[in-house]
Amino acid sequence: MVRLCDEGTLIVKVDAGFEQTAPWLIWWRGYARICNMCAFPRLTVIVLALLAGNNAWSDATRFESLERVASRYGFPVPIVDEDSIRFRSRYSSLMFKRDSRMLVYDGVLVWLNKGVHKRKNRWGLIGEDLRTVINPLLRRNEVLRKVGYLRVMLDPGHGGEDGGALSARGLQEKRVVLDIARRTRRKLEAAGVLVNLTRYTDGFLELHDRCREARRWRADLLISIHANASGNPAAAGVETYIMPAPGFRSTGSTRPDQRRYEGNRFDEANVILGYFVHKGLVANSGGADRGVKRARFLVLKDSPCPAALVECGFLSNAQDAESLASRRHRDVVARGLTQGILTYVSRVRTAHTAAR
Ligand SMILES: [Zn+2]
Repeated sequence: MVRLCDEGTLIVKVDAGFEQTAPWLIWWRGYARICNMCAFPRLTVIVLALLAGNNAWSDATRFESLERVASRYGFPVPIVDEDSIRFRSRYSSLMFKRDSRMLVYDGVLVWLNKGVHKRKNRWGLIGEDLRTVINPLLRRNEVLRKVGYLRVMLDPGHGGEDGGALSARGLQEKRVVLDIARRTRRKLEAAGVLVNLTRYTDGFLELHDRCREARRWRADLLISIHANASGNPAAAGVETYIMPAPGFRSTGSTRPDQRRYEGNRFDEANVILGYFVHKGLVANSGGADRGVKRARFLVLKDSPCPAALVECGFLSNAQDAESLASRRHRDVVARGLTQGILTYVSRVRTAHTAAR
């Protein structure tokens, strides 16, 4: 594996992952980290490592034990207790729930594609979860240097004849989310970010037109803004959706989908964007953290850039609906989205600078 560490130092990590791609490199094992500060000629390191394949997590279904994953990312031996497995370092913490798709990364719930399961008495993950969730979260620069950050498209859901969800007191989702989008836009523009909205007024817009608009405007990221509804009036809180990886099911579904959509081109950046936006939303709105989930919503499937869809609360829940009816709360939600987007934008900028 070749990567730039967070300080921008070239690191070539040689381990058992290379056994599949370059058996002739096995003699290198033991030189766990070779950086450009060492005496080994840097160019030789790059050439040899590129020849070896540069992606140890490339096998989507291959099982990797959590001990090995922890060691690869420089964590101490994982702590295993009755229902969880935890990694902790000075920089980050991960808590995997056993036999579950739930991962709590630095305090935020993120849903995996397959999740943690046991094989031959060892807990582990499949390559796809490592490639599209763990590696992007722990090695952000590798992913973010390949995406843009200058143009932010906000997509207030519904509009016109499509009112979206409705609260018991008649509050319409389309109005709530347009107001949140406008407030978010103002805050982002005040921070110097270029922002566009898929709709500025209460007009109807087809779902595919939202992605078309993002493509036409050459958006670098797309945030679709919604409010939730459920048959269960107790359901409350905020959630953020990103695309599931091809072959895996949505968080609330039992059916996997094998197809690879346009939005799957950004699986790795999607999880970073979803994580930061959701973190901002949870921290500011005070809503229950329902996690970064997965669903093949059309606006995510067809997105021409990294994308996330946020659900800012449940209009079917009396408490959430009352909050969303208040201008003050909608401003707090907009502040949370702004904070998440600005964090993502600054991390992408950092990754570009480090890659120069
Ligand atoms: Zn909606």
